Amino acid sequence: MEHYITGNTKLTGLLGSPVAHSISPMMHNMGFSLLGLDYIYLCFDVGTDNLKTAVEGLKVMGVKGFNCTMPDKNLMFELADEVSPAAKIIGAVNTVLNEDGKLKAYNTDGMGYMRAVKDAGHNIIGKNMTLLGAGGAATAVCTQAALDGVASINVFSIKDQFYTRAENLVERINQNTNCKASLYDLADKATLKESIDNSAILTNATSVGMAPNTDNCLIDDEDVFRKDLIVSDVIYNPRETLLLKKAKEKGCSTFNGLYMLLYQGAEAFKIWTGKEMPVKEIKEKYFS
Ligand code: NAD
Repeated sequence: MEHYITGNTKLTGLLGSPVAHSISPMMHNMGFSLLGLDYIYLCFDVGTDNLKTAVEGLKVMGVKGFNCTMPDKNLMFELADEVSPAAKIIGAVNTVLNEDGKLKAYNTDGMGYMRAVKDAGHNIIGKNMTLLGAGGAATAVCTQAALDGVASINVFSIKDQFYTRAENLVERINQNTNCKASLYDLADKATLKESIDNSAILTNATSVGMAPNTDNCLIDDEDVFRKDLIVSDVIYNPRETLLLKKAKEKGCSTFNGLYMLLYQGAEAFKIWTGKEMPVKEIKEKYFS
């Protein structure tokens, strides 16, 4: 699998800080090579202080597009010339396409999650979801699930800075989609149990359970884990969070955040190249 740089090579990449740990260069460059596309993907450690300058430079240099990660996702939303309907509700972007100097921005995190649901063999359209968390990942998941046709989403969050932002999010979802979104205090255990009892899927989109704090789990009452409940986590490190472990032991079908990560990249790949990322080979090499 050779990869030559030519005078026509189209540049894509990742802006954020830190970025050196990212798996995105591996998956995109492997995809470009496998399809024989004259593209390259590089990482640039750029925080919000220099984002505007970097983006202006990339634009005049005629790059094909780029991803952005923390802490740049919200500011990039402001800098874009045009944003997708999902990104407009979310208020943050992770993928930008440079179309002849016009920067079109998207948020593919939620799309990645919804593809991961399908990949795990589930169909949650028209069903109810209980979502833990109201931060960046939760906002993207909630918005895309609502746009794709999930019937209702109950968001449970602690009363931190994300809670107030989520009040606006559920309002935007209720105004712009057919989904019924509601926000609850995570401390309200009775309502949480009732919501899970009425849901097809329970999703953890908080950082609780992520390494190194792998002993943490937001669900204490294991009675909520009935056999036909799907339990998913956006966390991929560890591969099996305590939440997924507990749910699996009770017979639930579970999946982690690994394929959300893969498919958010696959969606960006399609936006830049117009081609499907060869996910089978990339899964085998980097996601198994
Ligand atoms: P964020 O900082 O925007 O949000 C963090 C969320 O966790 C908030 O809702 C916050 O209220 C909640 N939280 C934190 N501590 C809590 C506690 N003690 N109790 C209850 N809730 C608590 O972060 P983010 O970008 O949304 O990332 C959240 C997780 O999602 C991380 O583990 C991240 O690695 C993962 N993630 C995965 C993908 C993927 O592609 N699979 C993409 C983005 C983020």
